[in-house]
Amino acid sequence: MLYLSRKMYFSAVHSYRINEWTEEKNRAVFGLCSNPNGHGHDYRLEVMVKGTIDKKSGIVVNIMDIDKVVKSFVEKELDGKFLNKENEYFKEKISTTENIANYIWKSIDGKIAGCRLHKIRLYENEYLYSEKEDEEVVRLTRKYHFCTAHRLHSNLLTDDENKGIFGKCNNPYGHGHNYYLEVTVRGTPDPVTGMIADLAELDSIVDQEIVKKFDHKHLNLDTEEFKELNPTSENMAVVAWDLLVPKLSNLYKIGLYETEKNYFEYYGPDKE
Ligand SMILES: [Zn+2]
Ligand SMILES: [Zn+2]
Repeated sequence: MLYLSRKMYFSAVHSYRINEWTEEKNRAVFGLCSNPNGHGHDYRLEVMVKGTIDKKSGIVVNIMDIDKVVKSFVEKELDGKFLNKENEYFKEKISTTENIANYIWKSIDGKIAGCRLHKIRLYENEYLYSEKEDEEVVRLTRKYHFCTAHRLHSNLLTDDENKGIFGKCNNPYGHGHNYYLEVTVRGTPDPVTGMIADLAELDSIVDQEIVKKFDHKHLNLDTEEFKELNPTSENMAVVAWDLLVPKLSNLYKIGLYETEKNYFEYYGPDKE
């Protein structure tokens, strides 16, 4: 099986509102997104398909055939529109990224000849994206930032061994990074709000459990979590999981960018 993905972009206006609700309730549930005049995003859509390579042509599917289905659909139904007013589907449903990903999946699944739909990933911006990979479940990923110092040093190794493995990163005074933490939750979008997680609640949990603890700190010196534990990104991903999972029952993945070049993913203790 071979997987390939095609990226495309569109821009749309939307407003999160339930007409039967009072202004007050819309504001309370959807916050700024409830502005009836709308706000907008430049969306980035990644459509991943899978299939076998045709022996003669050496391709799975002609990219033009993907465009014929997906790009023409996006241009007709989403790009440049006020979704609440100009798209039939979103006259009824709230156009959260979860619901838009669902909608795109349902609309193009089975329509691209020669391959099968594998995954849809839709970015609302660099800090929020939804993913769909099968019928029911959608995943939502939110990205957070903190700047932190650490020293890579394990108490279970000798000083020479530490120096040998960690080199400059073993500097006794430490060094620092711009960390980016991705928190991914999974679920079925709520039929009323279209959300799988209350973003304000998710933000406040991550702020409380992670950002407030680690931002502008020295992990080895200022945090309980890494007093004894070597603050490698591998250990940080596991610690982030352990801190968040008691409050986020639908946690699916922790992703951690130590730098732009180093990225770590952890799916919890039960997933190999
Ligand atoms: Zn929005
Ligand atoms: Zn480092």
